[in-house]
Amino acid sequence: MRFDTIVIGGGMAGLSAALRLAEAGQKTLLMASGQSALHFSSGSIDLLDTQGDPRAALPAFMAAQPDHPYAKVGLANIEASLTDLQRHCAEDGLPLYREEHNHQRITPIGTLKRTWISPATCAYVTEAPVPDSLLLATLEGFRDFHPALAAANLATQPRFAHCRILTGEIRLPQLAEFSRNPHEFRSADIARLFDRQPNLLADLAREISRMVRESGEPACRHIVLPACLSLGLVGPRLAELEKLTGCTLREVATMPPSLIGMRMQEALKRRFMALGGTFLTSERVLGARYEGDKVIGVHSQNGDDQLFEAAYFVLASGSFFSRGLESRLGGIREPIFDADVLSLPERDAWAGRRLFDHHPFMGFGVKTDDKLRVLRGGKPLRNLYGAGSVLAHYDPVKEGSGSGVAVATGWQVAGHILAEV
Ligand SMILES: Cc1cc2nc3c(=O)[nH]c(=O)nc-3n(C[C@H](O)[C@H](O)[C@H](O)COP(=O)(O)OP(=O)(O)OC[C@H]3O[C@@H](n4cnc5c(N)ncnc54)[C@H](O)[C@@H]3O)c2cc1C
Repeated sequence: MRFDTIVIGGGMAGLSAALRLAEAGQKTLLMASGQSALHFSSGSIDLLDTQGDPRAALPAFMAAQPDHPYAKVGLANIEASLTDLQRHCAEDGLPLYREEHNHQRITPIGTLKRTWISPATCAYVTEAPVPDSLLLATLEGFRDFHPALAAANLATQPRFAHCRILTGEIRLPQLAEFSRNPHEFRSADIARLFDRQPNLLADLAREISRMVRESGEPACRHIVLPACLSLGLVGPRLAELEKLTGCTLREVATMPPSLIGMRMQEALKRRFMALGGTFLTSERVLGARYEGDKVIGVHSQNGDDQLFEAAYFVLASGSFFSRGLESRLGGIREPIFDADVLSLPERDAWAGRRLFDHHPFMGFGVKTDDKLRVLRGGKPLRNLYGAGSVLAHYDPVKEGSGSGVAVATGWQVAGHILAEV
């Protein structure tokens, strides 16, 4: 099987690259072994954790770190990549929200987290005044969102000083079947039920109205719910609920699985396939065949002896979390191409002593040249590009740059490939 480009990895980086390539008319294959970080993430795209406009901070940030992936993309292309992502999501019916500066997402534990782009259905704080009252609600028996904890934390935020934060519980007898086994009472189980039984929405609306009436603040019109009302695009469902209740409704991410991240993954995947791309799931790439300094094909766990051939390859297999990088007693390795990896020889130096210390291993990853071509034996492989969290020289947690780097580098390597053909 021969393609123009094969992308390894179905997370944010792989999808960003694959979408640009497919849209430009390339015969593109995306191979993904399993879930990506999106299945566990907030679904927001962090660009850089700064107050105000992160784009204003990026030039100095890149100048100070010339090896950082952002520095290999450049500000104009970083912006173009994010605009493209918003366009693709909008085309699939998933509107994303952003301002000219970072906004703050309300997290499941009621803290505020700065980010650049969020799905429009999420609960976030903008420049607009915070309402006088806000009701954090959950579903009776649901364990993955705790309004009392979130309310206590939110109440300590200066922006919420004047806001009366209420909590409530929605009781739906239709959910009783899940209570038998708490492992079945997850956001995805609830969402599946709402997707199967659209009539449930009217009952939910009645329950929300009851909860508001009994909350002690019947004038409250702002409700935050755990993200569990649909596996698919939830916007129309929330709009319908808003019509029925007269309240604004926003979602907060729950403990994983994160439906907000999964919806984004599915939206981008659908869009890629609508553009003619081929997405192979449960397809772990094991190794590659080379001719000189070029990769000529990759083989996978399911493919027996089959070689998937292409003119270009993108390595977007993620970090340790997705097994794009592996930690062994002997050191850190990239398992598919045995690419050159940045790490520290002394194992004790890999991690800080405390959980919230700086952890050097977060910056470990695959080395690339200025065009993001993957290095092997000190030299770039001519047609293999790296993108996303498999890359060295960036720390998504410390910098607050996780998906920003993934989107930007995926988009950039697609641009390098398109410039060559
Ligand atoms: C739990 C978690 C939550 C996060 N939350 C956020 C957030 O809210 N906002 C943010 O900006 N950043 C977040 N991040 C940072 C995250 O790294 C980036 O956001 C980004 O999603 C990473 O994308 P990626 O495509 O590089 O890697 P991943 O999303 O990890 O995707 C890697 C892909 O490669 C596939 N793969 C791996 N090995 C192989 C193989 N051998 N063959 C085929 N496929 C393979 C995997 O199955 C997966 O599809 C989070 C990270 C983690 C781990």
